[in-house]
Amino acid sequence: MDRFRYQSFAQEVIFALGALAQLSEVVGRLGWRKILLCTSRSIHANGQVDALETILGGSLVVVFDQVQPHVQDFQVKEALTLTAENKAEAVIGMGGGSSIGMAKAIGFQAHLPIIAIPTTYAGSEMTPVYGITHTDENPPRKVTVNDPKIVPTLVIYDPRLTLDLPPKLTASTGINALAHCIEALYSKTRNPLSTTAAVEGVRHIHHALLRCYQDGHDLDARTEMLLGAHLAGLSLASVSMGLHHGLCHVLGGSAKIPHGIANSIILPHAIRFNAEATASQLLPAAEAMNILENGTNSKAVIEALARRIHELIGQMNLPQRLRDAGVDESDLPRLAQIAFQNRTVQNNPQSITDVMELEHLLRSAW
Ligand code: NAD
Repeated sequence: MDRFRYQSFAQEVIFALGALAQLSEVVGRLGWRKILLCTSRSIHANGQVDALETILGGSLVVVFDQVQPHVQDFQVKEALTLTAENKAEAVIGMGGGSSIGMAKAIGFQAHLPIIAIPTTYAGSEMTPVYGITHTDENPPRKVTVNDPKIVPTLVIYDPRLTLDLPPKLTASTGINALAHCIEALYSKTRNPLSTTAAVEGVRHIHHALLRCYQDGHDLDARTEMLLGAHLAGLSLASVSMGLHHGLCHVLGGSAKIPHGIANSIILPHAIRFNAEATASQLLPAAEAMNILENGTNSKAVIEALARRIHELIGQMNLPQRLRDAGVDESDLPRLAQIAFQNRTVQNNPQSITDVMELEHLLRSAW
């Protein structure tokens, strides 16, 4: 890597067991008196909203706890109205990537600071991007918005908040984090920071994810996995993504597949598709997963990496085929067409010149 260019972002990041309790101190220091919370029903149901209400007291003025997956445009409108009515001065997203994405959309559109409190491993808290689903199109289409002002000002990582994350979501959002690292490693805009974060992210995720899946209350594993997810998000923040993320957005927006599940199905296929062009960048990931053996050629190592990831996904009982996620075989040509127009897909390190290449990939994933 002898030339690079990237933008870094000013964020305050607090990572600690019990870090949630530090929120009131930071909110007081930054002078936010009226805060809107975006979250989802399951986070409310497991008591985390009550905990936040206790910590923030009167400064938490509105709770929007109906966040649906993939940031629906009509929900953003509703929450923006609440923001204006209550004169909110900051917005919190607590939950998975969808709650944080909603908070980003509101903060960006209403010019408010954004606080992210992740409870999954999706990594959105570190990035200057959100996706929003336009529901007036048929099929609905997910569009990404990219701007440095979207980066959350404050990120609170508290591993305790992940203890209730069910095994399937642990597994699928953990694979999403692994995918950030993989695509950051071979990104066209990779840089020394993204590469270092991605390799360390792979190491921690590989060491911790299966343990979190097997025992959700293993606090050491949860802490290491959240660190891996943070590094994965950090690696993602300064690079552009390729085929894998582009396809997952298409499958989320147009086939309604949950983001983590789409990641689990697509990742091994994307690695194989890109093997030729990206082998040398992916070797450190293989090394971090203890796959590298002396004397093995790089193509064989990348195939072993794809197999190992596929195996890990199988060990966590995640769907591994599009047919198991509700996609009809007859949908594949239409999905390939949508993906072929997708900017992120077209930003792949190995160029994609024929829509049939995508249809072929989707068929092997079906
Ligand atoms: P999600 O936010 O849609 O959440 C999935 C489910 O998990 C929800 O029902 C939620 O209530 C539940 N949940 C979350 N945390 C929980 C916990 N601790 N305990 C119990 N239940 C919990 O899923 P996700 O995979 O975290 O995020 C996916 C979304 O984030 C997608 O829209 C994706 O495009 C976006 N994303 C964006 C970026 C970015 O950089 N902008 C990065 C990754 C993902």
